[in-house]
Amino acid sequence: MAFLTLLQSNLWVPQRRLRVVMIGGGASGLNVAHHMNLHMENYELQIYEKNYDIGGTWFENSYFTSAEILTYFKGVATKYDLYKNIQLNHQVTAAAWDENQGIWNVEVKNLNTGSVIQDWGHVLINGCGVLNNWKRPEIPGLHSFAGDLIHSAAWPDSQDLTGKAVAVLGCGSSGVQIVPTIQPRSKRSLLSFGRRRGSQPGLPNALRVQEEKTSHALLPDFAVGCRRPTPGNGYLEALTKPNVHVVTDHISHVVPEGIVLVTGETVHINTFICPTGFDLSFAPRFSVVGRHGRDLAEEWKKKPRAYLSVAAPDFPNYFNKYATHSYLHRSLIQVCGIKAVSPLASAVDEFDTHINEFMKRTAWTTPCRSWFKNGTVDGPIVALHPGSRIHWFHMLADIRFEDWEFTYLTRNRFQYLGNGFSTMEEPGKDTTRYFDQPQDGYRSF
Ligand SMILES: Cc1cc2nc3c(=O)[nH]c(=O)nc-3n(C[C@H](O)[C@H](O)[C@H](O)COP(=O)(O)OP(=O)(O)OC[C@H]3O[C@@H](n4cnc5c(N)ncnc54)[C@H](O)[C@@H]3O)c2cc1C
Repeated sequence: MAFLTLLQSNLWVPQRRLRVVMIGGGASGLNVAHHMNLHMENYELQIYEKNYDIGGTWFENSYFTSAEILTYFKGVATKYDLYKNIQLNHQVTAAAWDENQGIWNVEVKNLNTGSVIQDWGHVLINGCGVLNNWKRPEIPGLHSFAGDLIHSAAWPDSQDLTGKAVAVLGCGSSGVQIVPTIQPRSKRSLLSFGRRRGSQPGLPNALRVQEEKTSHALLPDFAVGCRRPTPGNGYLEALTKPNVHVVTDHISHVVPEGIVLVTGETVHINTFICPTGFDLSFAPRFSVVGRHGRDLAEEWKKKPRAYLSVAAPDFPNYFNKYATHSYLHRSLIQVCGIKAVSPLASAVDEFDTHINEFMKRTAWTTPCRSWFKNGTVDGPIVALHPGSRIHWFHMLADIRFEDWEFTYLTRNRFQYLGNGFSTMEEPGKDTTRYFDQPQDGYRSF
C-alpha cells in the first residue's frame, strides 16, 4: 500500500520557498519582477544584469527616442521597487541542471571584482534579449582597415565625420537612417553600399550612378514585409546629394586604406560604418546544460526549437523571456510539489512542423536578407511567431498541460491537497462569494 503523509496545510498554500534566477535586467526582467511581486508569495527572485544599469536594449543603444524609453524603464523600476531584485554588473557565464536536486546551478561573474560566484534556482528564466549581440560583417581583411571601423550598435561617443570619406555598408533599417543623418557632415564623400540588386547585369562599374540607375539598384526584388519596414525619412533624397555615391558592385575585400571591389577598384575611405545587425541565432551565449548533457548553446546555434517560444524539452524549469505568462511557477512548481516541468519533445516537433508549413505562405520567405532569418536570405525564419501578436498572446493565455511532462518531489502527487480546507476559507475570507458573483464561476479562485 502506498505511503502518504497528509499535509496539515490548506489547499493552495505555497509549500516551499521558490527561488527563481533570471538573466537580464531589460524590459523582460522588469516585467517578470513586477509580475512576481504582484502575484506571488514565499519566493526569492534574483536577476543578474551584466550592465551597470537596467534597460537592456534602451541602455545599450543611444539614438532618437532611446533615452526617453530608458528613462521610462528606470522610472518603472523605481516606482515598483524592482532594483531590489537586480544585481547589476553581474554576468551569468554558465548554467547546469541538477536532476537530483531539481535545481539550476548558475555561475555568475562579478564584473566589478572579476570574482565568480555560484548561485542556484528552482527556476531559471532567460531574459537576455536577442538584439544586443551585434556582429560585424564577414568581409575578408576587415580587421586590417586602418581607419575608424564603426558598428551602428556601438557608436563612439565622440565621432567627428567632418570632411571624412565615409562608407556605409548596406541599406538595412539602420543604414537608411544613418545615411541621411551623416550626409550633411561627411563633406568629402559618403559611399552608400547597396547590394540588393548588385549582380543585375548592365549596372555600370562606377562609383557614381545616375538617379535612375540608383533607384533601379535599390528596388527590392522581394515581397513587401520580408524585411521589417523602416521609416527611411530623407534616405532617397540623401542619395541624390553631390557628396553621396551609391556603390552597387560587390566588395571583394578590405585593405588598410579602404575597400576593394570585385572589379578591382580600390575605394579610399577614412571611416567604415557597418550597420550590420546582430547575431540572432537565439542560442544562449553561455552554456545551458540540461538533461543528458544537452547544451542549449550548441543545439540552438543552427535553429532554435522552442515550445511555443518559452521552453525546451530536456531543459526543465527553464523558460525564455515572457515566461510570466506561465502560472506554472506559482500553481504547480511551488504549490503542488512539482520538481521539474519541461515540454514534451513530440509537442516541440509538431509545433516546429506547423511553423515550417505556415511560413511557406508568408512574405518573409521571399529572397531578402533579414534578421528574421538570422541574417540569411534563405535560412529558416527563426525570429517570428507563426501568427499575429494577438494570436501569440491568445496562444499563451491557456496552458496546454498535455504538452508537458512533470516529475514530483512527493511520492503522491496529491499530497498538496493537504488538510481538506482551502486557502479561500482562511479567517476573514468570504466563503460564499460565488453566490454574489455567479458569472465568475470558479475563476475567482
Ligand atoms: C535598435 C533597436 C530598436 C528597437 N526598436 C524597437 C521598437 O521600436 N519597438 C519594440 O517593441 N522593440 C524594439 N526593439 C526590440 C527591443 O529589444 C525589445 O523591445 C525589448 O527591449 C527587449 O527587451 P529584453 O529585456 O527582452 O531584452 P534586452 O533589452 O536585450 O535586455 C536583455 C538584458 O540582458 C542582459 N544580459 C544579456 N546576457 C547576459 C548575461 N549573460 N548575464 C547577465 N545579463 C545579461 C543584457 O545586458 C540586457 O540588459 C529594438 C531593438 C533594437 C536593438
